[in-house]
Amino acid sequence: MAKSAGVLDAAAAIAKGLGVTFRELLSPTVTEDYPDSPVRFQERFRGGHVLQRDEEGMEKCVACFLCAAACPANCIYIEAAENTEEKRISGGERYAEVYNIDYNRCIFCGYCVEACPTDAITHGHDFELADYDTASLIKRKEDMLVPWPPAQKDQPVRQR
Ligand code: SF4
Ligand code: SF4
Repeated sequence: MAKSAGVLDAAAAIAKGLGVTFRELLSPTVTEDYPDSPVRFQERFRGGHVLQRDEEGMEKCVACFLCAAACPANCIYIEAAENTEEKRISGGERYAEVYNIDYNRCIFCGYCVEACPTDAITHGHDFELADYDTASLIKRKEDMLVPWPPAQKDQPVRQR
């Protein structure tokens, strides 16, 4: 009796497994055809960083170093400079004259984004970051800063 119950349990398990297989066979494919087609990202995807500007084009980063302090991989390097009347780069007292992120070390944890009080640093959707040259994995402020003025609708935009 116990033996036939075991056989029935096994048959039920196989039928259940095949049911999943057949259901997936009939459902639409979700495989990305990369690199032949563009990749679709979830909004929450953490790709390469973007340094943001405000609506007037000022850099949002005020060189407070909170992102660097929060970074567990110690891969953010900042040099701060004072804004002056003649040369105003950000809305605060200071701005980041140098802002580097070393992608050899970054683990895309997002702590820097969470720590930033001005929403100056965010994650973009750039994911093609691999390189044979480790030096090229150190991204500078110029690589990450949102261009200004913003691109027009009919101009090609680099994916971020
Ligand atoms: S995502 Fe994490 S590891 Fe990368 S720079 Fe930000 S805090 Fe550092
Ligand atoms: S990115 Fe944000 S947290 Fe980092 S230095 Fe600039 S303002 Fe501060």
